[in-house]
Amino acid sequence: MRFTRLRLNGFKSFVDPTDLMILDGLTGVVGPNGCGKSNLLEALRWVMGENRPTAMRGGGMEDVIFAGAATRPARNFAEVSLHIDNSERLAPSGFNDQDVLEVVRRITRDAGSAYKANTKDVRARDVQMLFADASTGAHSPALVRQGQISELINAKPKARRRILEEAAGISGLYQRRHEAELK
Ligand code: ATP
Ligand code: MG
Repeated sequence: MRFTRLRLNGFKSFVDPTDLMILDGLTGVVGPNGCGKSNLLEALRWVMGENRPTAMRGGGMEDVIFAGAATRPARNFAEVSLHIDNSERLAPSGFNDQDVLEVVRRITRDAGSAYKANTKDVRARDVQMLFADASTGAHSPALVRQGQISELINAKPKARRRILEEAAGISGLYQRRHEAELK
């Protein structure tokens, strides 16, 4: 699954629409402290269905919405869009009819989050499954937060196993089994 564009609008410090084009090869993001580098990675995690405010360094989910600055009022919504290259038609069925799969998540104050895949309304779970099956996902071990390496070194065996399962691409199966057992 290759990501080709990340667009942020009203997400954290990215108050104006901002595109990050992800080209072939390695992409580096550099800038002074506080310029928003970590916010970019959080946007990526968020659009893939992250629902733990702590993982977004916030107290509540609405904290991802631009909160205002000296010269700019706060926004009422935040939106992140992710383009995924689907020219080889590797996306799961139902998401697989176009060269680009676009996943959009939008949160509006007091109205919660809504997701779209290729302009169709989808559920959070559909988006989480889409990425869990592709071994990317909001909890992917490929996304390394600041401070996470030392957390890993100190982790208990159970937590470390979860990371290995995610890397092996089987966590989507666990989620489905869990849901089947609830039914
Ligand atoms: P470092 O190099 O220190 O790791 P960074 O480039 O990773 O810095 P971030 O942590 O991504 O920086 O950005 C932090 C900035 O984002 C802070 O200035 C903070 O005020 C701003 N910010 C976070 N949430 C919001 C929000 N909801 N609204 C407006 N600004 C926000
Ligand atoms: Mg940072």
